[in-house]
Amino acid sequence: MEQIYFDHSATTPLDPRVVEAMLPCYRANFGNPSSLHWAGQQAKQTIDEGRRQVADLFHASPDEITFTASGTEGDNMALSGVATQYKPQDCHIITSSFEHPAILETCKHLEKLGCAISYLPVTSEGIVNPESLKQTLRPNTRLVSVMAANNVVGTLQPITELAKITKAHGALFHTDAVQAVGKIPLHMDAMPVDMLSLSGHKLHGPKGIGALYIRQGVKIEPLVHGGGQERGLRSATENVAAIAGLGKAAEIAGTEMNEEASRLVRLRDRIIVTITEKIPNAYLIGHRYKRLPGHICLGFAGQEGEAIHLMLALNEEGIAISTGSACSSHNAGQPSYILMAMGMDSVRARGSLRITLGRFNTDSEVDTFLEVLPRLVESLHPVTSRSFALTA
Ligand code: PLP
Repeated sequence: MEQIYFDHSATTPLDPRVVEAMLPCYRANFGNPSSLHWAGQQAKQTIDEGRRQVADLFHASPDEITFTASGTEGDNMALSGVATQYKPQDCHIITSSFEHPAILETCKHLEKLGCAISYLPVTSEGIVNPESLKQTLRPNTRLVSVMAANNVVGTLQPITELAKITKAHGALFHTDAVQAVGKIPLHMDAMPVDMLSLSGHKLHGPKGIGALYIRQGVKIEPLVHGGGQERGLRSATENVAAIAGLGKAAEIAGTEMNEEASRLVRLRDRIIVTITEKIPNAYLIGHRYKRLPGHICLGFAGQEGEAIHLMLALNEEGIAISTGSACSSHNAGQPSYILMAMGMDSVRARGSLRITLGRFNTDSEVDTFLEVLPRLVESLHPVTSRSFALTA
């Protein structure tokens, strides 16, 4: 059976060029980058090269890039790294109500320590309104953190505008750009962003590696203490192979971004237009255009309970998509807090399909999907209506 992977927001397959860049680090290039001998210096050069490649993707300077073990770690480091510099009662943080758990759970933790957290509302189209930020700032607001692109609905946030408002107030601005990096241009020389987190495995790079961009002059407390690697900001012997892979992934994404984004937008729009035409109750969730190039989130009015069945039926046909975010697969069947934040009721918020395209997807895979999904929606309806009746 043909296997089709349409779940690139969960993770992406490694680009073979990334694998090639990593392989020497598992063979001859094995040194500890902190060692002063030839083996260590060879590994150090690999890290320097990876740091430069990542910095180039953002038009940043290499010394503004700190490698982390994940997007989650970068998010934790940004939030805790600012908050721990203040007495908790003197620290107010603003975020949005539909961030990834890497932000929301860190906020909950900081709240337990005594910090005040405010959650900005989002519109029904999945966008944070900059006006709401203006109204939420307080004299002791230290940090604002709003994601660049949402992981479930794929909507793009007005980061530059939000960052400008934050900077005018004198606070720091962080963005969780894990879903956006490598897909849309994010240039630190043109955006007043202080910190930005990213993750290797979302841009056809390896898992277990991420980075936090920290603008020159911005001071944060480290999360991990030890031997002083990464300029003392993130101790631990570096994951050299993963850094080489992330660097290569960043370089490829930067070089190919324009062409690849147009290609993905074309495939994405074919799916949105055809599915909403062929399936009368299908609707797009989130803003029609302010969305990631390859990201589609669909609802099916009156068939919300069927999303999970549809996902499983597609899987039977070899097509991998998701019902929400991979992180929420533990909560399958629960309403999505992201869709609830967008004002959907708990019935609608239970039933969405997320289809996310990537570098190796083709027109012919989209053709197959456009043939299979309408057929499955049609055939599943009676089964799930019955299951509705049984559980009612
Ligand atoms: N932030 C967002 C928006 C994400 O989508 C994800 C992963 O899905 C993360 C953070 C966490 O990244 P990682 O898997 O590298 O920890």
